[in-house]
Amino acid sequence: MVKENLKEVEEKIRQACLRSGRDPKEVTLIAVSKTKPVSMIEEAYAQGIRNFGENKPQELKEKDMILPDDIYWHMIGHLQRNKIKYVLERAKLIHSVDSVRLAEAIEEEAAKRELTVPILLEVNIAREESKFGFLQEEIFDALEVISKLPHLRVEGLMTIAPFVENAEENRIHFKNLRKLSVDIEQKNIDNVNMCNLSMGMTGDYEIAIEEGATMVRVGTGIFGERSYIK
Ligand SMILES: *Cc1c(COP(=O)(O)O)cnc(C)c1O
Repeated sequence: MVKENLKEVEEKIRQACLRSGRDPKEVTLIAVSKTKPVSMIEEAYAQGIRNFGENKPQELKEKDMILPDDIYWHMIGHLQRNKIKYVLERAKLIHSVDSVRLAEAIEEEAAKRELTVPILLEVNIAREESKFGFLQEEIFDALEVISKLPHLRVEGLMTIAPFVENAEENRIHFKNLRKLSVDIEQKNIDNVNMCNLSMGMTGDYEIAIEEGATMVRVGTGIFGERSYIK
């Protein structure tokens, strides 16, 4: 099933790139494997997938210890400061930096280990009560502090769009995130590059690609529905 699903998702990514005049090489598919067993990750790995997303630090760590070394792990879930240690040397990219306090805590851990940690800033672009992330108007003040942290490297923005019936409703949010990243880029802040836009999930990744996503995070569309009952 994973194999067929992947073919379909990859084809839809190609089509979305075609429609928007983009090179499919600009778009990284992150297979979101949270709650899913190692055996399913291995199926995706066998199809050539190397980028996987997890939202729980311990789960990322456990899977990383078992699975091949050439996997790139993406930390995409809200990160508590006391869990940073689980992902620091394992995650290729932390997408979910949602506060200055968290950035400072990552800086502290990274400094101890003499690492430079690539991060994205999570933006609550649709201003949902229930979501983590910076509000648009907070991002420049946050960057003022975060850009000066020597062991962090800001590489772009991430957002989780609202859950909607019709994915078209999210186009405006993807457009707005892209606009924000262009505004940030134009300020030429040292240590800040807006090379990545992590946006789009199973329900709306094609639209996110049309609006400039460089990373799409697809779980259900590859691995099927998640069950949280153990
Ligand atoms: C679970 C999750 C996804 C994947 O969601 P699907 O709708 O299953 O594709 C993407 N991004 C984040 C941050 C998630 O937590």
